[in-house]
Amino acid sequence: MLALRRQGGQITLSTDEPEPTPKEGEAIVRVRIAAVTGLDLAVAHGVLAFEGTLGHSFVGTVESMPGGRRKLAGARVVVASVCACGRCDRCAAGFTAHCRERTIPGVIGRDGGFAERVRLPANALIPVPDEVDDDSAAFAIPLAAAIQAAQQFTIKGKPFVTVLGDGRLGLIVGQVMARLNASVRVVGRHASKLAVCERWGLKHRHVDEVGRRADQDVVVDCTGTIEGLATAVRLVRPRGTVVVKSLLVGRAASGALPAEILEIIVVNEIAVVGSGAGPVPEALAMLRRKEVDVIGLISRRLPLRDGMAALRLAGQPDTLGVLLACGEAGG
Ligand SMILES: [Zn+2]
Repeated sequence: MLALRRQGGQITLSTDEPEPTPKEGEAIVRVRIAAVTGLDLAVAHGVLAFEGTLGHSFVGTVESMPGGRRKLAGARVVVASVCACGRCDRCAAGFTAHCRERTIPGVIGRDGGFAERVRLPANALIPVPDEVDDDSAAFAIPLAAAIQAAQQFTIKGKPFVTVLGDGRLGLIVGQVMARLNASVRVVGRHASKLAVCERWGLKHRHVDEVGRRADQDVVVDCTGTIEGLATAVRLVRPRGTVVVKSLLVGRAASGALPAEILEIIVVNEIAVVGSGAGPVPEALAMLRRKEVDVIGLISRRLPLRDGMAALRLAGQPDTLGVLLACGEAGG
């Protein structure tokens, strides 16, 4: 079968990848649509030491389930953000996202969905409601991550919230934050992406037009860069909160946070909160209620056999969402 893989530090489109063989408790899922996210690009660029099939946010059809768990056979499913062991101390304490044995398809220890078929733990599969189409479901993982960010600070009064970064994740986070009782704006540097905010009625500003007045209650940094985090620290008020949604790109660029920024964090008593994977069932529920628009984020759709081109395209600054149609691999 076809699979887009990272192997020996290289990205290759494997045309004769062996069909996945399920291990105990695993299902086989035929992938329908996968989204190419910023995390996929970071993994492709070697930010994490991952080897295997890429792709962490996708929707597919269950082809086979392990014995005695036939309920989901034939169903459309997405996979949880994190596949947890269910046995370790963290799982027992309810922190399954931080499981000591966790795997994440296409990111940590497990093949992902840029393939025709993938093996996945049956208990990590989540059925997709009929009202949610494949293209929307393919964005369930980044949407869940945005929901997580919204749950990591408390709302008092009507706070000023800045979402920094107008990439795919920033635009999803902006929509989720806009549903809170808060004054929300997206700050970025790409006219074409900020135009999407205009369409959604979401307040937006170019980063060069925004004063560093330290007056925001919360800044959610979705830039993935050290420069972005430094700007976030300058925008937030004393005792405010900076939610860091991604630093992967910054890590790839091997930057360091300037000492003066650390000083502002200390002197202004800023809470810097890391934000990771989120609740996929809540993401599907938001999509079912049409509370967010992810379809408006799609700029291109390519078949899996053009996976290399899809990665290149998704990495360009003006591109929004790129989808891989994995079910059309041979077509
Ligand atoms: Zn565990």
